[in-house]
Amino acid sequence: MRELVVLGTSSQVPTRARNHNGYFLRWDGDGLLFDPGEGTQRQMIHAGVASSQVTRICLTHVHGDHCFGLPGVLARMAVDQVTHPVHLHYPASGEETVRALTGLAGAGPDLRWHPHGGAGDVADGLEVAPLRHRVETYGYRVREPDGRTLLPDLLTAAGITGLDVGRLQREGQVGGVRLADVSVPRRGQSFALVMDTAVCDGARRLAEGTDVVVMESTFADEEAGLAAEYGHLTAGQAGALASEAGAGLLVLTHFSSRYADVAPLREQAQARAGATRVVAAADLDRYAFPRRRELRRRTSPGPGA
Ligand SMILES: [Zn+2]
Repeated sequence: MRELVVLGTSSQVPTRARNHNGYFLRWDGDGLLFDPGEGTQRQMIHAGVASSQVTRICLTHVHGDHCFGLPGVLARMAVDQVTHPVHLHYPASGEETVRALTGLAGAGPDLRWHPHGGAGDVADGLEVAPLRHRVETYGYRVREPDGRTLLPDLLTAAGITGLDVGRLQREGQVGGVRLADVSVPRRGQSFALVMDTAVCDGARRLAEGTDVVVMESTFADEEAGLAAEYGHLTAGQAGALASEAGAGLLVLTHFSSRYADVAPLREQAQARAGATRVVAAADLDRYAFPRRRELRRRTSPGPGA
């Protein structure tokens, strides 16, 4: 199962309607918790996310609204007797803050430390790229390798049934039938989290071709000056970035407390997002991943082809 659970959507300070930001990504057997702001533990209860489902915690940077919920979540894991290892990813320059926060939690789960200081893979199927903010910040991208979708009618016609189906997938060939003959290429799904940042190449690279991208949208377009000054995106900039990257769905979040209603921000983003669909997240929203897109549909060649 693949699903994004939005735990909070506020930047800097929470509001009556919005908790500090935080995001949980169910990705098959993994559970990635991104940027747990204050109150994340309680938001997880509201969202029905158990602490035992978290296998990785990924921090973009060490500003408080992105990490002050960490001790609470770790302490809760200890209460819940989580025994599996929990991988903690963070910018290396934030080490002191991360050590202080984890130290507050006391004897938490079995933490595995993964500081990063440059672009690249930080785990299997998980990569980071630098963003442009006031402190060192990295966005994340989760990706599934490309694969192949089996076509049942062609399998049947080729006489491949039962255990031979698994063998064909593992070995690429069974009794003269090749995997390529009975399947079509399938693009792996991908997800990206882009915050906090001004417009930059890293943001564009992370969002490239993603099914779902979460982007900060701290300010409306009218506040482009403030966005530039503090290293944030406007709604319109987020929409343009997602569109240039060809993302399927853009989820806006990390809103300034000055906006009681974020519908206008969604409209500003959508106006520049082209074919990318834009939603403005509310706390506890859930987004299921769409069906995988096939690279091309198999067509039987016509006569004389
Ligand atoms: Zn922030």
